[in-house]
Amino acid sequence: MTTRRATLFDLLHAGAERDPALIAPGGPVWTFADLRAQVGQLAEWLQAHGLGRGDRIAIALGNGPAMAMAFLAAATAATAAPLNPKYRRDEFAFYYEDTNARALIVAPGEGDEARAALRPGMLLIEATLDADGRLAFSAAGETGPPRRDGWAAADDVAMILHTSGTTSRPKRVPIRHRNLVASTANIIATYQLSPADRSLCVMPLFHIHGIVASLLSQLAAGGAVICPPGFDGLKFWSWVEQARPTWYSAVPTMHQVLLARAERNAAIIAANPFRFIRSSSAPLPPVVMERMETVFGAPVIESYGMTEASHQMTSNPLPPGQHKPGSVGIGFGVEVGIMDENGNLLPAGVKGEVVVRGPNVVDGYENNPEANAAAFVHGWFRTGDQGYLDDDGYLCLTGRIKELINRGGEKISPLEIDDVLLRHPAVAEALAFAAPHPTLGEEVHAAVVLREGMQASERELRDHCAQWLADFKVPRAIHILSALPRGATGKLQRITMAKTLGLA
Ligand code: ATP
Ligand code: MG
Repeated sequence: MTTRRATLFDLLHAGAERDPALIAPGGPVWTFADLRAQVGQLAEWLQAHGLGRGDRIAIALGNGPAMAMAFLAAATAATAAPLNPKYRRDEFAFYYEDTNARALIVAPGEGDEARAALRPGMLLIEATLDADGRLAFSAAGETGPPRRDGWAAADDVAMILHTSGTTSRPKRVPIRHRNLVASTANIIATYQLSPADRSLCVMPLFHIHGIVASLLSQLAAGGAVICPPGFDGLKFWSWVEQARPTWYSAVPTMHQVLLARAERNAAIIAANPFRFIRSSSAPLPPVVMERMETVFGAPVIESYGMTEASHQMTSNPLPPGQHKPGSVGIGFGVEVGIMDENGNLLPAGVKGEVVVRGPNVVDGYENNPEANAAAFVHGWFRTGDQGYLDDDGYLCLTGRIKELINRGGEKISPLEIDDVLLRHPAVAEALAFAAPHPTLGEEVHAAVVLREGMQASERELRDHCAQWLADFKVPRAIHILSALPRGATGKLQRITMAKTLGLA
């Protein structure tokens, strides 16, 4: 048994042989010994079928233990390229070509769109999970000669992910084993994860948040990961009751769905308290955080992550450390600074671009020299987010630089307007955005979704804003909608909002 932790496969040595590593709610349990044995065999299968180091293996599987094992095997034998299984054919075709995928892993009888987009020369692999929890690969088609180049090393690319595409076309990010090993160590240290912990993995396993926070960090801490088939606001509480997680990580939208159904599940919540709840990937409105802490009786810890940093950059600490509503916390194993346009670091209290550096940050985008030249400067990575450090060194984000509303030269943070709108009792969701304006360039607009059964006129909402905001920040128009547009992981699509509403 190795104690050196260089690759994802090494992380699977953290738990005791017989302790659970993966749990399917209402289904099989995989011990750490099982998981290692199966991942090792599957990795050997891939190399025996011509797939080795440097090859990209696309995976289009829904969440669950089969996805977790296929991902670990692909990253051990070659490079995993997990994709959203809900993509359409053309999207798959784009990602296969962009990543130069050599194979695709799907479940039997599933993944029609992913299969339809297969390119000549790509190997189709079906991953079949039997009732006892054994995952088997089978190949349809011509396989290449066996590969004997050994398993992945620390410097190999473990996975290729694309950024979420919130601010521009998704960028391709090669994430090395050493980046992931560093990132999981940071997350373990932040939350003092131990073998006694259990994470409930509801985040998609094709996104960095789910892969690193929910899955890898908990395995690397020697505790079990509960792997349901994905987020489900109705089934969530039965999974909690069955498998007793000590924490879960999710995006604010999911927390809000759970909050809306919390009352009905009060008995389960009281009997199975979480040690903490983690929120990341999008801003958590302070009002939501406060409501969650009251209803769930657990500290709600906001963290800040991105694909290029192998997920976590900062987090609020657990109690007895202070977790501050509206802040994303402090760096754990990651240096955080604020930079101006000229590359100078700025003092506390001054707004600028958030920059980070640390062993979790990737070396660069793949095949994108312009993006690399813009983002990797003076040894730092420019995140594209705007914020400041408070006097205690906590990072407060004020928005994405590309999402700031430029009203005749006045830069306005849309997050501040979202927060004010959310304080109105009838407002369930809010999204301020820039709409084109003939003389100002951009004007402030906002879209809101009202709480079920509640009413508020546009006029009333604007008056509410005027109580809290300077005139120039009060939205000129507030659009009352039945839903707000979101990306695959629940991120609000602010930049395209004006277009979505036909204003641009
Ligand atoms: P793209 O880079 O393609 O525009 P993206 O930045 O949304 O997409 P991700 O890497 O998934 O792709 O997301 C990282 C971004 O998510 C961060 O740069 C930040 O803007 C946002 N984010 C993450 N956590 C938080 C948080 N706690 N609060 C506010 N924003 C957050
Ligand atoms: Mg980004």
